[in-house]
Amino acid sequence: MPVTVHQTESPSEHALERLIERYLHEPSAELAATLRAALTQSRGAPRDALPPHVLKDALEQSPLAVSITDLNAKILYANRCFTEVTGYSQEEIVGHNESLLSYKSTPRAIYRELWQTIQAGHRWSGKLVNRRKDGARYLAAVTISPVFDTQGAMTHFLGIHRDVTEWFALERKVCNQKAFIESVVDSTPAVMAVLDESMKVVLDNQAYKKLITDMDQPEPLVHLFEQLRSRVGDFESMRAAQRSFYNCEIACKLATGEQRWFACSGTWSCELVSDVDTFFSEKRVPYLLFLAHDITSQKQQQERIRSNAMRALLAEEGMNQSLQETLSGAVYQFESPFNMLNAAMDMLERRSDKSAMDDALLSVLAEVQEQARGALHNLQQAIPREEGFEPVSLNLNQVIHDVLMIYTERLLSEGIVIDWKPTASVKPVFGEANRLRNMIKHLLDNAIEAIVAGDCRRREITIETANEDKWVSVTLIDSGGGIPEPLRIKVFEPFFSTKTGGDASHAGMGLTLAQDVINRHAGTLEIDAHFHHGCRINVRLPVSHS
Ligand code: FAD
Repeated sequence: MPVTVHQTESPSEHALERLIERYLHEPSAELAATLRAALTQSRGAPRDALPPHVLKDALEQSPLAVSITDLNAKILYANRCFTEVTGYSQEEIVGHNESLLSYKSTPRAIYRELWQTIQAGHRWSGKLVNRRKDGARYLAAVTISPVFDTQGAMTHFLGIHRDVTEWFALERKVCNQKAFIESVVDSTPAVMAVLDESMKVVLDNQAYKKLITDMDQPEPLVHLFEQLRSRVGDFESMRAAQRSFYNCEIACKLATGEQRWFACSGTWSCELVSDVDTFFSEKRVPYLLFLAHDITSQKQQQERIRSNAMRALLAEEGMNQSLQETLSGAVYQFESPFNMLNAAMDMLERRSDKSAMDDALLSVLAEVQEQARGALHNLQQAIPREEGFEPVSLNLNQVIHDVLMIYTERLLSEGIVIDWKPTASVKPVFGEANRLRNMIKHLLDNAIEAIVAGDCRRREITIETANEDKWVSVTLIDSGGGIPEPLRIKVFEPFFSTKTGGDASHAGMGLTLAQDVINRHAGTLEIDAHFHHGCRINVRLPVSHS
């Protein structure tokens, strides 16, 4: 709003009063307050009660640099603060153009815009690089307003400015620090996000943005937290207790179906709120710094090592089993001639007409008997002993997954498709992982052999788990030739096999050994008599708490 001067009254005093009136709405609260005090004093009492110098004194003592110029920017008045900021005394500056303050580094276009604005009768605000009397430069936040007389003619310009060099340096420093922090956060390979108390992401980095694309989710954190909930509790309780967490490993699926592993950490910190309301009463709000390191390659490496160890373990157990079978067979084979030898010696011993030849023969036979006994003992000692049964609480899905991992190559080379349907949150069973793995291995071997031998067109094995009250069941279905009805009991007998030819190393022992493992676990194994599209075997194991 233009400022008018009443020509009928003392021009200098009333022009000043109007100017003050005008500037009561200035952004500078300090100047406004000083001027308001002066004006209130002048209005609150009879007109002649205000000493004429008060308004000028107020301007003079203002903490802002104030100058009044003619229409060519020639300085007519400058207050004390103006002289303090610029270094020029009033005598040195009055009569000079404001351009004396120019450091000559402000772009010309800014001056052009300044002049166009004030000459059009509007107020201009902006920043100019000024030069003090001693040559030092400073950044000035300047406001220039045109002053009008009662006829509306522009008569003067009022300039107010303050040194904002430090404020600018501080602002730049904050900007630089922000840019630095953002570039560090962005370049870190870990997924990083800062969440406010309502779980809204307020800062994230490039790795997090990539995860948005990879998971095809607008807010991947929601999904990561779902996975974390069972380990660290829900977000609200975590926030209430300001509970941090470190290196919690979780898996998540990408849009492509690929699985990724992350080690997640979250730490809480508080920030001071910068609202005006909190100027006198401090308020802090909590933030969660969330970090997730991609550990997929380490996990894959671990899985590889684990699967190799498992393969070696199963191979060793297989070897032990065949050694057991072979040596037991050899002991059995050896025992019958040894028993015959004992019987022959007994008969010879009891003969009444023993000759000297017989005695000589007996002593040779006794020597043979002794050697045979020793050999038999050695053989029996060489039979690998079974380790004790030490059951623990197990996840059957994990046991099956382990075996399937080892069988992947074989299944691929046989062109057999596995349909693996693990039930979600399978109940734990009480058992020995190795024995159960071996049981699944025997069933899987039988299923593969049945499909290969049957030369089936559909080459499919389905394995599914299910929770059934106090049991966990495993159903294994193969698309092979199946087991004919009359043989469904016989197949559990040792050394019985429906297969002819092929790999006979364990021929006829698979189901026997599987049944043996199931018996030790107090479970059941059944062949489904009503299934006619191959073979369906159902295994049930008691859940661990029963
Ligand atoms: P100049 O040749 O003086 O001017 C540069 C450009 O400004 C010209 O090309 C022209 O477009 C415009 N211009 C200058 N004078 C006029 C005029 N009389 N009429 C129309 N256009 C004109 N400048 C500062 O650097 N620091 C200040 O703190 C500052 N405070 C000011 C306060 C007031 C109240 C006013 C009215 C002006 C103020 N100025 C200030 C502007 C100053 O008057 C100069 O325009 C500026 O300093 C540039 O000076 P110069 O010598 O580099 O160039």
